[in-house]
Amino acid sequence: MYTKECHEILESYLNVPRTLLATSCTDALEMASLLIDIKPGDEVIVPSFSFVSSALPFVRQGATVRFADSRNDHPGMDEHQISNLINSRTKAIVVVHYAGVACNMDQILEEARHGNIKVIEDAAQCIGAGYTTKSGKSHYLGTLGHLGGISFHETKNIHCGEGGVLIINDENYISRAEIIWEKGTNRSAFFRGQVDKYGWVDTGSSFLPSELNAAFLYAQLKNINVVLNQRNYIWNYYQKHLEDWATKNDIQLPVVPDYATHNSHIFFLIFPDAQSRTRFIAHMSNKGIQTTFHYQSLHNSKFYGQETRKMKLPMSEKYTDCLVRLPLYPDLSQENLQYVVDSVNAFKV
Ligand SMILES: *Cc1c(COP(=O)(O)O)cnc(C)c1O
Repeated sequence: MYTKECHEILESYLNVPRTLLATSCTDALEMASLLIDIKPGDEVIVPSFSFVSSALPFVRQGATVRFADSRNDHPGMDEHQISNLINSRTKAIVVVHYAGVACNMDQILEEARHGNIKVIEDAAQCIGAGYTTKSGKSHYLGTLGHLGGISFHETKNIHCGEGGVLIINDENYISRAEIIWEKGTNRSAFFRGQVDKYGWVDTGSSFLPSELNAAFLYAQLKNINVVLNQRNYIWNYYQKHLEDWATKNDIQLPVVPDYATHNSHIFFLIFPDAQSRTRFIAHMSNKGIQTTFHYQSLHNSKFYGQETRKMKLPMSEKYTDCLVRLPLYPDLSQENLQYVVDSVNAFKV
């Protein structure tokens, strides 16, 4: 069974007790939301500069979101803001490691421990990316909190079209997670011969992907190092050949803190303002190169922004307006890579 093979590969690669493939990372986070029993009245801390899926699974269960701003040197969540957002109703902190670059997990886990708060990692972009703790231990992202999710959507480093995985780091969640995964039934225990028939025992949904998706994912996972090496080459090439241009034009390139080992998921540029970014996207488009901005701040969203739109989250708004991503995929040829670099270098802010 490919699903089982993928579980074994992921559990050994990530060094975690249990993983469960899901139809998406969004679904993996929905399972996390059910597992930690999110209810109306609970509060969840989520960075505003993220995808809907970081907040939606908790909002669907009735939680109120407290939006955190990003760091000023990186789009990841600013760990210094968390203590101001914590109160007696805080049930979870959702950590998003933007571009596969780790947040400061030592500090976030410490804040959470204090308040008896669950840490859920939205590690959607993070397959292969790591974090080294203050005590010098290395972990893959998604394996540091109580629960984590990685995406295998076609836009991510490793994919199966649509897919994801729930990472269970706290063993107490394993048996209930298997039930939630299987439509609220104890079918997993039945297959193991632990019960003689299976039935409806809890809440849940059909979170498991088909064997077809798992088979596709299996081949991808077998080649993870090939994909990561090709991406690293491109990421490092951009970094090296755009540094001088960036300094001259007041552009910020990605910053990777010492504790993070990233997975070359995104190479981004941060422009001084929205106007120069718009001009840049047009300049690149004229050369036949597609460059794209990224998230619209969640606190300004149509769905959730009613109350939160009045908030000021200056860094999240800055990344919404000023960040742009360069082409990055494993079979980008050297010739095309050089053409992108030359085209960027030809732009003046
Ligand atoms: C891609 C992404 C998701 C969604 O993943 P799906 O597998 O499409 O559900 C969630 N969060 C972040 C940060 C993402 O980049």
